[in-house]
Amino acid sequence: MAKVAFIGLGNMGGGMAANLVKAGFDVTAFDLSSAALQASVEAGCSAATSAAESVANADYVVSMLPNGAIVESIYIDNDKLLDVIPKAALVIDCSTIAAQNSRRLASEANNRGIRAIDAPVSGGVAAADAGTLAFMCGGKEADFEAARDVLSAMGANLFLAGDSGAGQVAKMCNNMLLAVHMVGTAESLQLGVDNGLDPAVLSEIMLNSSGANWSLEKYNPYPGVMENAPASRNYEGGFMNMLMLKDLGLALDAATGSKSSVPMGSLARSLYALHAGKGNEQRDFSSIIEQFKKGE
Ligand code: NAD
Repeated sequence: MAKVAFIGLGNMGGGMAANLVKAGFDVTAFDLSSAALQASVEAGCSAATSAAESVANADYVVSMLPNGAIVESIYIDNDKLLDVIPKAALVIDCSTIAAQNSRRLASEANNRGIRAIDAPVSGGVAAADAGTLAFMCGGKEADFEAARDVLSAMGANLFLAGDSGAGQVAKMCNNMLLAVHMVGTAESLQLGVDNGLDPAVLSEIMLNSSGANWSLEKYNPYPGVMENAPASRNYEGGFMNMLMLKDLGLALDAATGSKSSVPMGSLARSLYALHAGKGNEQRDFSSIIEQFKKGE
């Protein structure tokens, strides 16, 4: 049975580690939160007392951490996991971080004879629990293929975007586009309502016209139009505004570095910063429609 060390058992990592157990992997887990660690033990993982202990004898090291500073701290600068991970192991970092963080991790790993890929995900907590995430990977093709069994246990769609860091670039482009079409969908629906249309009728018309897009099809931001969307449960659950803001920040930082013009992404970031700053950090990102309601 292949051994997986799993570090970072939060909203996403908890379900991902549980799916690895279900697929027959021998998972040793570590998280700073004892509650998160306990939940993963209940899902069938063994608990380690430190990150270093979790990676001993690992065939794969999977991490799902909040940001690039923590990823670099754990693997390179403080916990120095790369100095204790077995040489034959494959590091699969699924955290959403800047491409340069992923490139540094891969290069420091390769310098020690360890393989590493970046594998950020799309899909959110429900997909993490269901094992239906999309993985956008960056790294060598052989390493991507070596990760296939582990990734398949946690996801439904696996993509190799290019070399190290390319998975992060694909993820930030995707999420910038998601923010832009969510904002556009929200303001269009509100415009229609302000001018006397029923949001469900307008949604159906646009869905079957040239305005159709993923936000309208799967994630309607207007309350009551789509029964299972976060909009119909006061924007609880789903994808938090603070995470969208983080992803837009990564996109704009990258755009600054590449001198790319991203006017729609910049505007979307400003709108999400405004919205999150009004006490909406923890609410779903489709709640951005409230910025377009009169009197709000
Ligand atoms: P989370 O905050 O719920 O989980 C992160 C976990 O990492 C926490 O349990 C925390 O205790 C642990 N952690 C932090 N520092 C640690 C350390 N030094 N050692 C060990 N454990 C440590 O976050 P999440 O929502 O699971 O997101 C994780 C990553 O997935 C982020 O990079 C996020 O951007 C990305 N992501 C999240 C979603 C989503 O919908 N939540 C969707 C796609 C991608």
